[in-house]
Amino acid sequence: MVSESETAPIHALLVSFPGQGHINPLLRLGKRLASKGLFVTFTTPENAGKDLRNANHIVSDKPIPVGDGFLRFEFFEDGWKEDDSRRKNLSEYLAQLELVGKQVISQMIHKYNDSHQPVSCVINNAFVPWVCDVASELNLPCAVLWVQSCAVFSAYYHFFHKLVPFPSDSDPHIDVHLPSLPVLKHDEIPSFLHSHSPYRFIGELILEQIKKLTSPFCVLMDTFEELEKDYIKYMSKFCVIRSVGPLFKNPAKPEDSGRSESDEIRGDLCVKADDCIEWLNSKPSGSVVYISFGSVVFLPQEQVDEIAYALLDSAVSFLWVLKPPHRSLGLPSQVLPGGFLEKTMGRGKVVQWSPQEEVLAHPSVSCFVTHCGWNSSLETLTCGVPVLAFPAWGDQITNAKFLVDVFGVGIRLGRGQDQNKVITRDEVTRCLEDATVGPKAQELKNNSLRWKAAAEAAIADGGSSIRNLEAFVEDVKRMACRVGVRTIEDHSLGTS
Ligand code: UDP
Repeated sequence: MVSESETAPIHALLVSFPGQGHINPLLRLGKRLASKGLFVTFTTPENAGKDLRNANHIVSDKPIPVGDGFLRFEFFEDGWKEDDSRRKNLSEYLAQLELVGKQVISQMIHKYNDSHQPVSCVINNAFVPWVCDVASELNLPCAVLWVQSCAVFSAYYHFFHKLVPFPSDSDPHIDVHLPSLPVLKHDEIPSFLHSHSPYRFIGELILEQIKKLTSPFCVLMDTFEELEKDYIKYMSKFCVIRSVGPLFKNPAKPEDSGRSESDEIRGDLCVKADDCIEWLNSKPSGSVVYISFGSVVFLPQEQVDEIAYALLDSAVSFLWVLKPPHRSLGLPSQVLPGGFLEKTMGRGKVVQWSPQEEVLAHPSVSCFVTHCGWNSSLETLTCGVPVLAFPAWGDQITNAKFLVDVFGVGIRLGRGQDQNKVITRDEVTRCLEDATVGPKAQELKNNSLRWKAAAEAAIADGGSSIRNLEAFVEDVKRMACRVGVRTIEDHSLGTS
């Protein structure tokens, strides 16, 4: 007799922290897995689900065909009302999410089991490390999608296991020597590892994921071998790493296959992306500076002023994303100097949210002024666009170092929020000029184009990331034959 687990499709449950930089790569992974024939359920709390539905017409609970498989969304309540003031406190929210999420995800898995759609594998990102516990308790294979670089993974790993000295209160300025990586100065390590960081609790959360690395059978990484070869090789001594990036870039499709429904599945949370492409079409090749600081960083008004005056002083064309502050911040919107829009009309465009992947791939874009979030970093490397690195915190600090000093695609505009410094309009103007005209600009562009080619090769047929993804799918299929969800009764009886 054929058992249910043999006939049911391979079902992967993807659990995401409700933030843009987390949803984007996990959703992209979901699409890749679905295209390989898996049935993928993507889940995150309803507060993000609502935004996802508002900004993306395709987001519903109906399974959407993607390649050989399907993708479906299912959102869950996190137990707090939408306008609960405690949402402003990320630390409190994380505790609430863990408390509720552990129960909800477990119930979801049982529900699918009962409705003949058993979950074969659970995949989470690092801000919800407790998902690994849920999977282990239910005897299910789990994997983590690491959404930062492998270099940053190495930093967290070595810090957690105390393998090399890191800056401390007694020795705050020491260099960090991570094996196989370039030396990092004290202000080049992920800033959440500093005891003085106001966001130290986020560092603790990520360290919690490092601690739980005994549960996942594999760490998937949104990076690619050619970019971080030595670090991936070194860190593979400690856990199975499969680099599967850049996830944002669709592997080449047959010429005549056209756009499919799955191409429309996007993870925008903020607002619907403004249409910038027509405007970019009207600009000469390599003439537009794209400015965006991701979904979370919200620059102080003084810094917005300096950037605005630099743009007024220069003749450069620009596309600037000035997003409204997230409702949980309770902050006023940033304002532009009087007459800014009139004076820059024709050469400048200011939007609230852009379709960034398409913007960076547009031939009119010359350079990206970025906060160096890992998604933005990978997107710009893959599109061959040089950067002005303007990090704020966390891994952005380390990514800026790599973009500038290791990958050779950028000029440094700042060293992060800890620097406590407003970058003046003169500095912005000078860096903009260096990155867009002259020999330095050419060197950056040449390096960027080399990374673009390497990224494309990684996701071409037989490329490193495609092979790694296929190997992962094979692992999941193999394990699916062996797993069976433990029932709640088994568990309370302590059955192993
Ligand atoms: N993004 C976008 N439009 C914008 C700004 C950002 O689509 O106007 C996307 C960007 O492509 C990236 C994500 O939002 O995928 C931001 O992730 P990242 O890791 O760069 O930064 P975070 O928002 O997590 O700080």
